[in-house]
Amino acid sequence: MQNKVNLLGHSLESLEDFFLVNNESKFRAKQLLKWIHQKGILDFNLMTDFNKDLRKKLNSIAYIQPPTISEEHVSKEGTIKYLIQLDSGSMVEMVEIPEKKRRTLCISSQAGCALQCTFCATGAQGFEQNLESHEIIGQLWLSNFHNKHNKPITNIVFMGMGEPLLNFNPVIESAKIMKHQLAYGLSRKRITISTSGIVPKIEELFDKIDVSLAISLHAPDDELRDEIVPINNKYPIKNLLKACKDYLNHYENKRSITIEYVLIENVNDSIEHAKKLSKLLSSMSCKINLIPFNSFKGSNYRRPTNKKIKLFKDYLMNKGFITTLRITRGDEVDGACGQLVGNLSNSIKGKHLISHKSIQ
Ligand code: SAH
Ligand code: SF4
Repeated sequence: MQNKVNLLGHSLESLEDFFLVNNESKFRAKQLLKWIHQKGILDFNLMTDFNKDLRKKLNSIAYIQPPTISEEHVSKEGTIKYLIQLDSGSMVEMVEIPEKKRRTLCISSQAGCALQCTFCATGAQGFEQNLESHEIIGQLWLSNFHNKHNKPITNIVFMGMGEPLLNFNPVIESAKIMKHQLAYGLSRKRITISTSGIVPKIEELFDKIDVSLAISLHAPDDELRDEIVPINNKYPIKNLLKACKDYLNHYENKRSITIEYVLIENVNDSIEHAKKLSKLLSSMSCKINLIPFNSFKGSNYRRPTNKKIKLFKDYLMNKGFITTLRITRGDEVDGACGQLVGNLSNSIKGKHLISHKSIQ
């Protein structure tokens, strides 16, 4: 494969450039995009509207290859958790969550993460590498095509391993493919980028692509957020909320942002915190997604009691916020979207599967 290019992660524009540089017609890009992402075909020789010479040429300069599924675990509720091996040998996870009308895929953008949020297993693992765009879109390709009787994915959340806005270009490139009508055709409502708050990149995001935004807030003031989401020391809450408002203004306030809030016992789960949070978000068009902390080996944090979670949620609902609760189920929970454990292979042995459901 040396010197050959993997075309799986090329958006339409990149494919057009590729064909033009190689003295071929631009319209081949549209055909190729459809073959790969709508028909699931990776072998140039099976692309019947490419003539023999073109196939030969493509075989000599390019290839199309998704990453490898190394393990696959299905829970009782139908959630499928995959361990994915990258070209480098590094491992990431992706999780497929079937619901009544939707099939959501939680994907990874980095192996590990440099940001070290104190409640996150990926952060505890440290940073390994950025994923290439073919390794990001490759997760969606695998989900849709490796197991043909599964229904296609309807929603994507960048809530697996890593901070998507710190791997900006490959994330944008893969999101373009997700949205394109000749590929997966997912609307912006169905693609959510979750960020811990990389302010300059949020500002850049809406210039580059229209997707839904989720902010991992987790604390209502800088003192606490500095501690549990350390990137807050660089981009404090005021700046973060300004970037959110710029995002909303850019779309003339016709949409809202999801605010994620991991509830950790005796850290950020009191009514005082809920009060501060509701004040902080009072002028923002948003919905709040509460995520009870998922424990993992090596962490001293705990999940609050159901009673406390309910009180927190009810407080916000009474203040008029649309508030959802991500429920996790399972015998033992040490692997979930966004809290994927360092020793991945061990983490998904046995019954460590969960499913997520959003309830009002
Ligand atoms: N880096 C991005 C996206 C990946 S994390 C971000 O931080 O937003 C996706 C979500 O899972 C984030 O809201 C994150 O805070 C949350 N998360 C991380 N660890 C968790 C844990 N142990 N329990 C519950 N949610 C967790
Ligand atoms: Fe990184 Fe997100 Fe985990 Fe924080 S919560 S360490 S930003 S993956």
